[in-house]
Amino acid sequence: MADNKISDAPKYELSLINQGLSDRGLRSQSSPHCSHLSFLQVLLVFAKEDSQSNGFCWACEKANFRCSMARTPESALECFSEKHHDLVIIDHRHSRHFDAEALSICMLTCVLFLRPDREEASVMPLINAGFNRRYVENANMMACYNELLQLEHGEVRAQFKLRAGNAIFTALEQSQEAIEITSEDQVIQYVNPAYESIMGYQKGELIGKEIIEVPKSEKNKPDLLETINSCIRKGKEWQGIYYAKKKNGDSIQQNVKITPVIGQGGKHKDRRKGSLDVRSTTSRGSDGSSQRRHSSMARIHSMTIEAPITKDGLRRLSGNEYIFSTKQPHHIPSHLITPLSLNDIPPRIAQTMENEDSWDFDVFNLEAATMKRPLTYLGLKIFSRFGVCEFLNCPEATLRSWLQVIEANYHSSNSYHNSSHAADVLHATAYFLCKERVKQSLDPIDEVAALIAATVHDVDHPGRTNSFLCNAGSELAILYNDTAVLESHHAALAFQITTRDDKCNIFKNIERNEYRTLRQAIIDMVLATEMTKHFEHVNKFVNSINKPLAESVKSVLTSPENRILVKRMLIKCADISNPCRPQELCIEWAGRISEEYFAQTDEEKRQGLPVVMPVFDRNTCSIPKSQISFIDYFITDMFDAWDAFADLPNLMQHLDNNFKYWKGLDERKLHSLRPPPE
Ligand code: 5GP
Ligand code: MN
Repeated sequence: MADNKISDAPKYELSLINQGLSDRGLRSQSSPHCSHLSFLQVLLVFAKEDSQSNGFCWACEKANFRCSMARTPESALECFSEKHHDLVIIDHRHSRHFDAEALSICMLTCVLFLRPDREEASVMPLINAGFNRRYVENANMMACYNELLQLEHGEVRAQFKLRAGNAIFTALEQSQEAIEITSEDQVIQYVNPAYESIMGYQKGELIGKEIIEVPKSEKNKPDLLETINSCIRKGKEWQGIYYAKKKNGDSIQQNVKITPVIGQGGKHKDRRKGSLDVRSTTSRGSDGSSQRRHSSMARIHSMTIEAPITKDGLRRLSGNEYIFSTKQPHHIPSHLITPLSLNDIPPRIAQTMENEDSWDFDVFNLEAATMKRPLTYLGLKIFSRFGVCEFLNCPEATLRSWLQVIEANYHSSNSYHNSSHAADVLHATAYFLCKERVKQSLDPIDEVAALIAATVHDVDHPGRTNSFLCNAGSELAILYNDTAVLESHHAALAFQITTRDDKCNIFKNIERNEYRTLRQAIIDMVLATEMTKHFEHVNKFVNSINKPLAESVKSVLTSPENRILVKRMLIKCADISNPCRPQELCIEWAGRISEEYFAQTDEEKRQGLPVVMPVFDRNTCSIPKSQISFIDYFITDMFDAWDAFADLPNLMQHLDNNFKYWKGLDERKLHSLRPPPE
């Protein structure tokens, strides 16, 4: 699998699908001046990563869209049914990978990519198949970005508006207030069911009639209608008591509000013309008692068409429908709210986590079973095994939301630094925490800190190294003065995400002092993963802990300073434990980190930036050599020291084995991850 990624990727045909399913539809409606819909959900369906898929990944990042990647039509559909992306881009350059047309039909409207040599082909069959746009293959990031922007401002917004219209229509239909909409020339266009039942008419008897034709009650003051009309003509709203005549002839007193709709909803934009395009009336029967009138009034106010929509309090139902709800807005995207608890993890997923306490646990199986959301599931299981919720006095639902929002902030488009790497580091951390010596030296709060630190330690990693970000003058490098840029960002962002919303704030119920201690420990561990300090951390650990221990000075284990050194060493070893994993896992990780580095080198060349790791050039790199150097330089000494402390014979065996594997390939002068088939 990883082999494919690093070989020169073949060219594909690509197609784009566009879908608008989001509460943003309404929000963008109610704030028409918002020029950019951030956090649009984009699904990239690419059988393999290549420069085109990377172009779109980067374009998504630039546009502040959330991008997920699917490799097969099955996973695309599953992912789509879960997240309801606003925009889906399908790689269609090689039809042997999947039938983009069939896929597009499942997902409504779409846009098609073509290879330059197919540009002349007719678009008609594609339009018939449901595509609505085509894009000639072009991996240039700005071209991809421009395409995304055009889609956002065209197709996506149009979809949003349609859906917003549907939502409002549903609200009108459900409303208990009688609502009537007329055209500019006072022809009735719409009455809702409440209107029918209050007034005793069927809508068929009213729609298409002029208001004048509907019998009026004699109880109104003679000049009332003229007052109302002159108010409406000026573009102003009218509100007051009005006697309406029901079909059976009875007059009922109503609190009525009549709103002229000007601008976006009507034909004319010039407010001074005061044109009445659509007239909407809310009313409700009243027997005239002042108390009732008062409550009816309140209801009318709450049902002005705009108010509940701008409140953001919309809850999405199964598909296109929305209903109004009084829920507060939340920061976790609604697609992430899944009814997931430790007790109802699907059996297929639970199965892949059965041996989660073993070093041989396969995180890639979990990655596949969870559609690239292994961190949430593994997190739930490991945090519960360590009693983290009990320690933090936090409901499991909060932990779940926290894991989901942290995982959502990992970039699934990175080949290495994605949430599977975080899950892998969490797994290794939990494994180390169970070692006798580690247990002796750490307190429960240290364990909790370590598990949290592992979970967040690479959050929002852009798939580029610190040196790259500094050379590129990125915003993050500027913010953090070119110093531990990424690690500072991971730690800072983790706390921002956690504390900005009570729903996912796992620290909400712990005491202030305990929070300070925990926070300090988490930050220290995340910063310790920075590789420029590698030798400093390893040397301090050996000098302050391993050497005194060898002289049987037992007290070294529990001093606060030494506990800090143990925690740093623990997370560092967990972070780069790939070479100590079973061979197949080790090879997959090596493929992923190489691909991420290759992509960086590609971009450095494209942008004329310094190439910070010239060894990681996809045209020349020997992966076995790069792994041998990495093990020689960083891994051997560190794991010797960690093994001397924590006793990890199985890890050392794997390391030895993997080292021999890379040596074997190198001796055969092979550059690839695996030997070629016989
Ligand atoms: P992380 O960024 O994952 O928190 O820190 C681990 C760092 O170790 C990576 O960024 C990377 O620099 C380095 N690393 C991990 N695995 C490998 C590998 O296989 N080869 C090389 N050269 N570096 C690695
Ligand atoms: Mn890491």
